[in-house]
Amino acid sequence: PKYVYDFTEGNKDLKDLLGGKGANLAEMTNLGLPVPPGFTITTEACRSYLSEGGLPAGLGDEIDTHLASLEKTMGRRLGAPDDPLLVSVRSGAKFSMPGMMETVLNVGLNDDSVHGLAKRSGDERHAWDSYRRLIQMFGRTVLGIDGALFECALEDVKHGKGVTDDLGLDAGDFQHLVDTYKEITLDRTGSAFPADPRDQLRMAVEAVFGSWNAERAVLYRRQERIPADLGTAVNVVAMVFGNLGMESGTGVAFTRDPGTGQQGVYGDYLQNAQGEDVVAGIRNTVPLERLRDIDPESYRELLGIMSTLENHYRDLCDIEFTIERGKLWMLQTRVGKRTPAAAFRIAVQLADQGLIDMDEALARVTGEQLAQLMFPRFGESGGRRLITKGMNASPGAAVGKAVFSSARAEELAARGEDVILVSRETTPDDLSGMIAARGVLTSRGGKTSHAAVVARGMGKTCVCGAEQLDVDAEGRRFTGPGGVEVAEGDVISIDGGTGEVFLGEVPVVASPVVEYFDGRGDTGDELVRAVDRLMRHADGRRRMAVRANADTPEDAARARRFGAQGIGLCRTEHMFLGERRQLVEDLILAGPGAARQKALDALEPLQKADFAGIFEAMDGTPVTIRLIDPPLHEFLPDLTSLSVKVALAGDDATPRDRELLAAVRRLHEQNPMLGLRGVRLGLAVPGLFAMQVRAIAAAVVERRAAGGDPRAEIMIPLVGAVQELEHVRDEARRILAETGVEAMIGTMIEVPRAALTAGQIAEAAEFFSFGTNDLTQMTWGFSRDDVEAAFFARYLDLGIFGVSPFETLDRAGVGRLMDIAVHEGRATRGDLKLGICGEHGGDPESVRFCHRIGLDYVSCSPFRVPVARLEAGRAVV
Ligand code: PEP
Ligand code: MG
Repeated sequence: PKYVYDFTEGNKDLKDLLGGKGANLAEMTNLGLPVPPGFTITTEACRSYLSEGGLPAGLGDEIDTHLASLEKTMGRRLGAPDDPLLVSVRSGAKFSMPGMMETVLNVGLNDDSVHGLAKRSGDERHAWDSYRRLIQMFGRTVLGIDGALFECALEDVKHGKGVTDDLGLDAGDFQHLVDTYKEITLDRTGSAFPADPRDQLRMAVEAVFGSWNAERAVLYRRQERIPADLGTAVNVVAMVFGNLGMESGTGVAFTRDPGTGQQGVYGDYLQNAQGEDVVAGIRNTVPLERLRDIDPESYRELLGIMSTLENHYRDLCDIEFTIERGKLWMLQTRVGKRTPAAAFRIAVQLADQGLIDMDEALARVTGEQLAQLMFPRFGESGGRRLITKGMNASPGAAVGKAVFSSARAEELAARGEDVILVSRETTPDDLSGMIAARGVLTSRGGKTSHAAVVARGMGKTCVCGAEQLDVDAEGRRFTGPGGVEVAEGDVISIDGGTGEVFLGEVPVVASPVVEYFDGRGDTGDELVRAVDRLMRHADGRRRMAVRANADTPEDAARARRFGAQGIGLCRTEHMFLGERRQLVEDLILAGPGAARQKALDALEPLQKADFAGIFEAMDGTPVTIRLIDPPLHEFLPDLTSLSVKVALAGDDATPRDRELLAAVRRLHEQNPMLGLRGVRLGLAVPGLFAMQVRAIAAAVVERRAAGGDPRAEIMIPLVGAVQELEHVRDEARRILAETGVEAMIGTMIEVPRAALTAGQIAEAAEFFSFGTNDLTQMTWGFSRDDVEAAFFARYLDLGIFGVSPFETLDRAGVGRLMDIAVHEGRATRGDLKLGICGEHGGDPESVRFCHRIGLDYVSCSPFRVPVARLEAGRAVV
C-alpha cells in the first residue's frame, strides 16, 4: 500500500486514511491557500506499526522520497548546517482528540544547523530557543523523560536572571539551556540527544504513532466513543515561525461565532509566539480584530481565506494560522464545534444563504442538541458569582442548599427544601441522596464517574470533577479557589450544561424552545425560528409516527402539544399509585371468590374515568392501553419493615397487618421483575384483565356518546408464548363483542422468547410494541433497577460498552432480536403494526435504528417527543 501522501495528493474526504488534519491540509493546498508544504503518513501505517511493533516495510523509502521532494520545493535540506529545512511532526486522527496525542516541532536542529538557522533568520536568540524547544519536546514525547525536569531547568534560568517571562531570556541563556537539556537527556536515557536529522524524524514519527495508545488518549476515546482501532496519521510539515519578532505571530479564527452562529470576525491573536504558547496561556491574546491594525495586509488575506473556506466547506470552520514576518500561513482548518443553539441557527442560516438545502440542514443538527436546548437554564441577568468550573456531566440548572451526605440530603428534602448534594465522589450508597437532591456536585471523577452516569440516567443536573474544590464531608463544608467557603445550608447553583458552579441563587429561566413547543413561545426569537423551521422539515420528511408514553390526561395533552400523534403506552398500573394502592392491596389479599369480585368492582369505575379522560385528551388519535403490569413488590409493603412492625406491635398488631404480612410472605419473590407480572398476573387472577377491558369499552362508549372519536388499542404485556396471548385475546374479544366496541389487540415484545417466536405470536396479535426496557433487562440479564448504580461506571471505564444499553439500544444483541421479530412477525401478518415504547423510543441513535428496521412508530416520554420527531426526520435524509 501507499503509506505517504503529499498535501497535493489528498483531499478532505480522505479523513479515514489521512486523519482530519491531513485531509484538510490537503484540501486547503488544493484550493491554492498558503499552506506550508508537507506530507501525511497514513493511519494505515500507524495501525501496522501498532500491531507489528515497528514501521512497515517500505515506509522508510516512501518517507525519503517525499522528504526529497519537500526539500526540493523548499530549496533546503533537512537539518543542513548552512540553511536547514526544519519540519514539525504532528499527530492527526480521523476524529479530533485535542491535546491527547503528541507533536514535535523544529525537527532538524542540532549543534550545526542551529547556526544555519540563526544565519538565515538573523535571529540568534530565536535559533537557540527553537533548539531547546526541540530537545524539550523530543525528550518528553519521544524519549519519555519527565517533562518537569526541563521545566525546572527553565525556571532555574529565569529565576537566576530575575525574570518571569521567556521574553526576558537571551540567546546565551537558551544556549546554556540547550547544554543543560542535553545533560538531562544523557543522564535519563544513557544516550546523547540524537543529532542526525533523519534519526530525529524517524523517532518522532514512531512516537506520534505510539501516542495513539497513551493513557489519556485511550481514556478520551472511551469518553467520546471514538473507536480504539483507527490509529492516527502523522503530518510532516515545513516549519514556519510565529516567534520571529513582532511582525510574526499566531492565532485562531472562526468563520462564525461558535456560541451563537452570528457571522463576523471571531478569534484570538498573539504576536511573536508559537501555537503552543497560546495553548499554554503564558501571555494574553488580543481579539482577532486587532490584527487589522497590527498587520492589515495579512488581516485582509485571512478574511478572504475565511470566506473561501466557509463557502467551500459550506459550514462553520475553525482555523489555526501563523504569520512569519508578514507572510500568512494556514496551519489547520476543520469544520468547527459549536453550541447546540449555534448548530440550529447556523444550519438554517446556511440554508437561507443557499449554501445547503433543508435536508442537509436537518442532517446537521441532532436530537441530543435539541434535548440540550429543552433543559431550563440560568438567566443571563443578575450578578452571578462563579466559584469554579467542573465537567458538564448532566445538563440542567439546579439551585439549592449544599449538603454533604445522602442522609442530610434526604432529611432536608423531606422537609421540602431544595438541596445540592456535594461530595468528593459518589458511590451506590448515595443513590437515595441523589434522588432527593436537585443536583449533584463532585470534586472527583469524569463524565463516566458514578455520579455522572447515575445523574444522567435520572435526568438530574450534575457537575462532576470540579477539582479546585476541597470537599470536607466530615466538616460539612467545601473550600474553593480564592478562599471561597461554602458550609452546609449555604445556597449554591450548578449548571450541568456548562459545568459552572455559582455561589448563591442564580435565577432559572424556562427554555424558550420548550415554551415554543408548549405554544407559548416567542416566535420572534431567532433560535426558536430555526428550531421551528427544522422541526417542520423533519415532520415533512419522516416516515415513522411519534407517540407518547402517558398515563394521565395532563401528560397526554402536553405530549400532544409537543407533537405526539397518539399514545404508544399507557401504563395502567400507574393509575393505582397513591390512595388507590389500597384497592390493589385488597385485590391481592382477596383470593378467589366474592371478595375478589368486590375489589374488582371497586376498581372498574375509576379505570373507566381514567380512560375517558385520556381518550378525550387524545381524541382522534390511537391510544394504546396496556393491561396492568404491576411488579408486585411495588404494590405490597416491604417484607422486612412489615415484619418488624408486626413483631413490635406483638399482641396489638391489627388483623389487617397480620393478614397483609402473611400475604407478603406468600407472594414474596426473589426476582420480582421476573415473577408474577404482566400477562402472568392476568392469567393467575381471573377477572383482572376482564375488568380493565370492560372499563376501556365503557370509556369508548361514553366518549362516543359525547361526540368524541376515541381510538383504543389494547396491549398485553410480558407475553412469551402465543398461548398466553390467545387466552387473554379470546376473553377480550368476547367482552368487546358484547359492548359493540372495536379495538385492535396486540402485544408487547419484551421477553426474548417472544422475539424469537414472533412468527407464532403474530397469529394472535394485530400489533407489536417493543418493550425494550424489559427486553434489554432479559437479554443481558441485567436487573434494570440495580445494575446501573452498581457497576455500570466500571463497565463504561473498561469500554465494555460506550453507553448504557438501557439508554441507547444495544443493536448487536437486543436490536438483533427486534429485527428477527419484525421479519417473522410481518411474514405471518403482512399488515402487522410495529412500534417501540421502551425508554429507547426517545433516544436519538435508537430512533434512527427503529427507522432502519422498519417500525411504524416510536413512543417516548412527552418531553422527548420533539427529539424523536427530529431524529425520525433525520433518519430519512
Ligand atoms: C418496557 O419494558 O420497555 C416497557 C415499556 O414496559 P415497562 O417499562 O413498564 O416494564
Ligand atoms: Mg416492560
